[in-house]
Amino acid sequence: MAALEIYQFPCLSDNYGFLVHDSESGETACIDTPETAPILAALEKTGWTLTQIWNTHHHYDHAGNNEEIKRITGCTITGPAGEADKIPAIDRAVDDGDTVMLGVHEAHVLNVGGHTLGHIAFHMEGHAFVGDSLFALGCGRVFEGTMAQMWESLQKLNALPDGTQIYCAHEYTTSNAAFAVTIDPDNEALSQRVAEISALRAANKPTVPTEIALERATNPFLRATDANVQARLNMSGASAVDVFAEIRARKDSF
Ligand code: ZN
Ligand code: FE
Repeated sequence: MAALEIYQFPCLSDNYGFLVHDSESGETACIDTPETAPILAALEKTGWTLTQIWNTHHHYDHAGNNEEIKRITGCTITGPAGEADKIPAIDRAVDDGDTVMLGVHEAHVLNVGGHTLGHIAFHMEGHAFVGDSLFALGCGRVFEGTMAQMWESLQKLNALPDGTQIYCAHEYTTSNAAFAVTIDPDNEALSQRVAEISALRAANKPTVPTEIALERATNPFLRATDANVQARLNMSGASAVDVFAEIRARKDSF
């Protein structure tokens, strides 16, 4: 079976759109629908025909153009069961443990609720499309769920094998990096990464996708059990959820 092809492109002010293509079947999935014109331009540029939309959650910059793109392309729409009533034109609702096919390629659905209650991610063949759950050096704001739910959700992503590419939906990395160093200032891997991020952004290059082992080593939201992080917060021995909640609260007002 041929490898999946992925095409990434900017949308709105700081979103990314992604097309996933299987050359054997000719199927193409668009991850979320942040903005119609760049999605149509990406299809034109690649020469791929859109057959599916896969939504991660109901926010407007993720599902807001579902109806228009479905009307133009005739594609089907798969989205989160937990918020199916808020996903325009949804055809199939899926949740944790479900499988979505792109030709013969299987995507595994993970429930990563917290940012929104029903938020899902799609994991396939070393690629994970995570919407607004995990970001490079950050995580989504906890709008609808609890801190415990968000922490559990991030653990599912944290459990993905080394090498997994993480396709987050926003380019938030510069501000995330500025915050991360306040929580984990003695982390050498983080310092090195911050320098790399500055260079990428100075050259107007994306920091997405990121890679899960790099996030494990440098993302403060995945490091709530780290002794240095806990000591820095005067929370040595506290529960992972409490430490995570403290880091999230600090970021909300950073
Ligand atoms: Zn969102
Ligand atoms: Fe978003």
